[in-house]
Amino acid sequence: MEYDYDDQNIFAKILRGEIPNKTVYENDHALAFHDIQPQAPVHVLIIPKGPYVSLDHFARDASPDEQAGFMQAVAEVCRLTNVDDGFRAISNTRTHGVQDVPHYHMHIIGGRQLGRMLQD
Ligand code: AMP
Repeated sequence: MEYDYDDQNIFAKILRGEIPNKTVYENDHALAFHDIQPQAPVHVLIIPKGPYVSLDHFARDASPDEQAGFMQAVAEVCRLTNVDDGFRAISNTRTHGVQDVPHYHMHIIGGRQLGRMLQD
């Protein structure tokens, strides 16, 4: 599998500070911010700062420090958003997964009772 990163994607622009975001948490390796079209009371996106297109790309090629930093951001987002009653973590991937932005991101969605996982 070859992963071709496009540095003009919208999350790359957010990381470069070219467009604003509502930051929830940031560390050396990851940034978390509110989704611009929230699907639930809590809808936060967590992205690595490195140029990874998808979950499988990140899992294969990110360094242990990058992966640890990303998971630390997941923990902090869950703590800061108080999703103690539960949440859903989603990483849509490529065409079948209906991924719109080609920079790896994990959605953390919660704050209300969600429906079953797949609608189709
Ligand atoms: P996906 O289909 O998994 O690639 O989801 C991309 C997500 O990015 C969608 O939920 C969008 O609402 C969200 N999004 C797109 N542009 C922005 C932005 N500028 N700031 C925050 N979230 C965004």
